[in-house]
Amino acid sequence: MTDGQPPLHIETLAIHAGQIPDPTTGAIMTPIYQTSTYVQSAPAHHKGYEYSRTDNPTRKALEDCLAALEAAPYGLAFASGMAAIDTIFRLFSPGDHVIAANDVYGGTFRLADKVWRSFGLDFSWVDTTDLAQVKAAIRPQTKLIWLESPTNPRLMLADIAAIARLAQPSGALVAVDNTFASPVLQQPLTLGAHLVVHSTTKYLGGHSDVVGGAIMLRDKTLFERLKFLQNAAGAVPGPSDCFLVLRGIKTLALRMERHSANGLRVARFLEDHPAVKAVYYPGLESHPQHALAKRQMRDFGGMLSVILHGGTEAGKRFASSTRLFSLAESLGGVESLIEHPYSMTHASTASSALAVDPGLVRLSVGIEHIDDLLQDLRQALASL
Ligand SMILES: *Cc1c(COP(=O)(O)O)cnc(C)c1O
Repeated sequence: MTDGQPPLHIETLAIHAGQIPDPTTGAIMTPIYQTSTYVQSAPAHHKGYEYSRTDNPTRKALEDCLAALEAAPYGLAFASGMAAIDTIFRLFSPGDHVIAANDVYGGTFRLADKVWRSFGLDFSWVDTTDLAQVKAAIRPQTKLIWLESPTNPRLMLADIAAIARLAQPSGALVAVDNTFASPVLQQPLTLGAHLVVHSTTKYLGGHSDVVGGAIMLRDKTLFERLKFLQNAAGAVPGPSDCFLVLRGIKTLALRMERHSANGLRVARFLEDHPAVKAVYYPGLESHPQHALAKRQMRDFGGMLSVILHGGTEAGKRFASSTRLFSLAESLGGVESLIEHPYSMTHASTASSALAVDPGLVRLSVGIEHIDDLLQDLRQALASL
């Protein structure tokens, strides 16, 4: 596609990568190949597709598009973000050590702590905003450093390039859950990470109508191991779900522009509001890692968290008083959402070292008109 030409931009790749007109009909949209098997002309003579757990043309188009978004040769699609994360943990053996950010997605912590720990993986939960802590946690058995940046729900950043350099002598893989940023705002593989993971349920799908996950990577051997695990364990997405994610991705770049513009306006509004004690948003000058955010990200996205002066009770009432911001888990869709992590998404971390502040409220700022969003937040804060 780019022979002798300058590389295509992400806005263009989102629309075209992996998607050729259907060879049978010329259909411009990749068809939903709703089939489990493929007819062979003679035993073991087929057109590259044998069985849809192994490969499916709609999934293949999505996987090639996902790879292009993260500037990677390889992409793998999964039935959910957790299935993608679970498949990465399957690379390891009892006794292997994983360093993970102490502010990760609640489901990632639950999978590590309640499932993979009992299979013998050893986890250290560290503050990955602090390079010294990451360095001190590396042992001879360390096989993986698991990062989220920005983290969920406190919007803390990890310096991906610096941690990749730190990890290099140990041979540990660096994986980044890039769900919050999306590839439009941040490309971890170009910063030195080995693996990128997405919950495509969020910004990539973008319309709150599908659950899915993905892994993108550059190393061929590692890709072949993960592709083997994808087929062996079988947590693959169906073709209709792949179609929805492919369709969502077409507008990803446009949506991220609006999410980021609205996110910054909402963050500034909340920061100036007398009921608000703290706002966590990497695009604010007051964010402790704003300089790193500017270096590592193209823009700052639509996710932010806030703590009110009135503490937990005020936070819960705020999350229940908005009208346009719907009270719901999840994020990254066109519509604005609000939630209380302590009692909702992060309930599984409640009595652990990873527990979130019970007063924290998380907002996923959508792409509605900014004046309507600010008006909704103003009336909700006024009602406290
Ligand atoms: C939602 C989410 C996941 C899990 O993805 P699912 O598609 O819900 O399985 C993982 N990481 C982050 C940061 C998420 O927001």
